[in-house]
Amino acid sequence: MPMHNSALNQPDEILRVTNVRRGFKKSQGELLVLDGASLTLKSGEIVGLLGRSGSGKSTLLRLIAGLIEPSGGEIEYLGKPLTGPAEGVAMVFQTFALFPWLTVLQNVEAGLEALGVSARERRQRALAAIDLIGLDGFESAYPRELSGGMRQRVGFARALVVNPTLLLMDEPFSALDVLTAETLRTDLLDLWSEKSLPIKAVLIVTHNVEEAVFMCDRILVLSSNPGRVMAEIPVPFKHPRNRLDPAFRRLVDDIYARMTARPSADAMRKGLTLGSWLPEVSTNLMAGLIETVAAPPYGGKADLPEIARTLHLEVDDLFPVAEMMQYLGFADVREGDILLTQPGKKFAEYGTQERKKLFAEHLLRNVPLAAWIKRVLHERPGRRAPRVRFEQELEDFLSDSAAEQTLDAVINWGRYAEIFSYDDQSEAFSLEDD
Ligand code: ADP
Ligand code: MG
Repeated sequence: MPMHNSALNQPDEILRVTNVRRGFKKSQGELLVLDGASLTLKSGEIVGLLGRSGSGKSTLLRLIAGLIEPSGGEIEYLGKPLTGPAEGVAMVFQTFALFPWLTVLQNVEAGLEALGVSARERRQRALAAIDLIGLDGFESAYPRELSGGMRQRVGFARALVVNPTLLLMDEPFSALDVLTAETLRTDLLDLWSEKSLPIKAVLIVTHNVEEAVFMCDRILVLSSNPGRVMAEIPVPFKHPRNRLDPAFRRLVDDIYARMTARPSADAMRKGLTLGSWLPEVSTNLMAGLIETVAAPPYGGKADLPEIARTLHLEVDDLFPVAEMMQYLGFADVREGDILLTQPGKKFAEYGTQERKKLFAEHLLRNVPLAAWIKRVLHERPGRRAPRVRFEQELEDFLSDSAAEQTLDAVINWGRYAEIFSYDDQSEAFSLEDD
């Protein structure tokens, strides 16, 4: 008789992802989104996958859900290699496409029809899931009659009704208002703590540091370009957690620090290239941040999480600004601190025209795309060029939407620096006579 019978029936390890690689085809070559991504999920864990927008979080989740295939590496679910969507793995998305012509009950049942469950059992299980997730009384309502929070509950019920072993969630609270999101998080954690759910493990994708610390037992930080797990942070607090607890705050700060430390140092050494993706960071926001950091009480050096809270910015809003200021040579970002460089301090002191001149120098020196646009315009008769001229070239390096965004970013900076003009009507760049 085997000694660890229960252990055999319920393996401790739910998921193992080893060195997974995945890219997407580009007109030339491929955009490598994930490379060397590895993680494991054990029974009883809520694990957070934290990373910046575009780092490949959703791609990794879709790989684990079996919706797309890796081009390298391995994914094992319950000890077996994954081949397509596995039974017992359910996914909750940011927003759900509910069937508008079906009631809440029918929408939840729909998740079971594909599994060939009898009508009677479907009804029973759907009612139980609806009850569990706090939707009782709304069984016969239609989606249009529900608030955003209630609709998201229907999404959760649809995931729970299949009695999943592994629940995958992709930013499930980010489309909800603050209070609704917190209620739903707390409800879900209560169900988890009471062990009312059949779920063995949860993997939740988020770009919100506080949410990750509030919910997870362990947080994995995904790097960008390409995405891989660059840090693993255990969260030692018991539920229910208090966001104002000093230890909670310290951990949030520490995670911010890790997220600013590694990738920037790495990327900074290389600098920007012509095909680098550029975040759409307005010159107003950069100037605002420089002024804030230069002024008292900071005097040129500030704690990023503190600045984020003061300016009501999230990770996704703050990191690109700090990073661009670093590339432009106006600041250094180190271990969660932002320090103004000499030019950064000068910028803060200068008036409008001097600022523009300084910004232009730094832009042309540090952002190859800006210098290239100026050079092309200079060589052209009439000193004009249509937007597509540059957009097509960028699409060799970037996805179409990233190319568009990158060009919009450089237009904003170039206009401010007055190194070229751009006409929105004709979608054309031009050079004033210099
Ligand atoms: P995240 O969820 O972390 O914001 P994603 O996984 O959605 O990131 O995307 C990572 C990168 O992969 C982005 O640059 C995105 O444009 C690209 N990408 C995602 N899906 C596709 C696809 N189907 N085709 C081409 N590029 C894609
Ligand atoms: Mg995503």
